[in-house]
Amino acid sequence: MGLDEIWQIVLGEIELQVSKPNFLTWLKNSRLVEKKDGVALVSLPNNFAKEWVKNKYHKLILGSLRNLDASTKNIDYLVSGQQGAVVNLASGIINNQTRLVQEPLMESKIDLETNLNSRYTLKTFIVGSSNELAFAAASAVVKKVGSKYNPLYIYGGVGLGKTHLMQAVGNEIKKNYQEKIKPLYITSEKFINDVVWGIRNKRMEDIKNKYRNVDVLIIDDIQFIGGKEACETEFFHTFNALYEQNKQIIISSDKPPRSIPTLEERLRSRFEGGMIADITYPNYEMRVAILRNKLQENNWELGEELVNYIANKVQRNIRELEGVLNRIIFYKDTKNEKITAKKIEEVINETTQNSPKNINPNDIIKSVADFFEVPINELIGRVRKKEIVEPRQIAMYLLREILNLSYPFIGEKLGKKDHTTAIHACSKISREITQNSFLNQRIMLIKEQIYKS
Ligand code: ADP
Ligand code: MG
Repeated sequence: MGLDEIWQIVLGEIELQVSKPNFLTWLKNSRLVEKKDGVALVSLPNNFAKEWVKNKYHKLILGSLRNLDASTKNIDYLVSGQQGAVVNLASGIINNQTRLVQEPLMESKIDLETNLNSRYTLKTFIVGSSNELAFAAASAVVKKVGSKYNPLYIYGGVGLGKTHLMQAVGNEIKKNYQEKIKPLYITSEKFINDVVWGIRNKRMEDIKNKYRNVDVLIIDDIQFIGGKEACETEFFHTFNALYEQNKQIIISSDKPPRSIPTLEERLRSRFEGGMIADITYPNYEMRVAILRNKLQENNWELGEELVNYIANKVQRNIRELEGVLNRIIFYKDTKNEKITAKKIEEVINETTQNSPKNINPNDIIKSVADFFEVPINELIGRVRKKEIVEPRQIAMYLLREILNLSYPFIGEKLGKKDHTTAIHACSKISREITQNSFLNQRIMLIKEQIYKS
């Protein structure tokens, strides 16, 4: 097995056990660059990612590597000095070959032409009351591409199956219609990067062609496009061009169109003109069904009582449900541990974010400092440098939002300021979040770190 292949397997396992933003932020651009004398050398794009991965995911990675090769003793980490996503992506447009070299991971199951991951199929999608409308609409789209529900807009919380379902539609279309109907799957993040790249390099024609020559455009997590004017405009034109030719458009989001505050009105009304279906939290039966299905797929075994126990405890996220199961099987089969309710409880606490934890102010301050790579003493000090001021305001906002601390306390804690400064910071950030999706995303990431740490 080659290094890239090993690493893909490791990442595949880890992906199921950490949240998507974490995975994308910390691990997406990682690589296994060498394996020698039992030591694996892993490269990460920057120092921050390196520290983070070393601290948070070392055990997970080591366990996974040992699974594949028992002689693995340790891991060393290094910073690779890779280029940013925009550049990677841009080269992807011009030349798939380059992209293969730069983004080796997760590529094996992903079709380069359509970006579809063959792992997602309708057959493996469990249907229950929480997703039956979305599933029915998706199935109808497969039968009547472009004419039945257009656009199809699927929304719902994290880890509930949006990506799975929309990619499954793409895969199904690819299979049923062979070369005649061409799907393309894209995250809105990628779309944004493409547009930015196109503008910067005066190659917008290439971008337009790329998106307007498909028969089915599947665009994931559209909420991130809101507020980015040039991208929204470009997407609007792409949308119209496709729509007028009866090409199918499938969109996912974490919210219904009307609840994306920054979405342009004309886009919103376009989205509302099609079929909108939500996916909500799976009920208990469905959670059991998902676990059973996953056990069966992998030829794993776990007693019924334990399956029920997991389904009972992990309620709000299918990705977490799968992550917990993966881990339990890992303990059971690899480490030969006896699985008890207590063990499951432990695994759930390690894996999921829904267990209430005692977060204290210092956790929040540390996460903000880590995220912006600024020293804690500057963050809580009086420095008025630009690169400190915004992180400090964000810390204030989070202290208020998560812990509901008083303004005088927050002001005192951060820079010995008086309460009006804290009030100003909190209201500024909460206002800006609704207008600036980049800020919103960053705050979501920070929160996630806070809840996990
Ligand atoms: P989202 O895009 O909504 O965040 P994903 O589509 O990535 O969620 O789903 C998270 C994980 O849960 C994936 O591994 C997916 O295969 C699995 N999953 C979600 N819904 C279902 C379902 N109804 N049946 C089987 N697996 C599911
Ligand atoms: Mg998704």
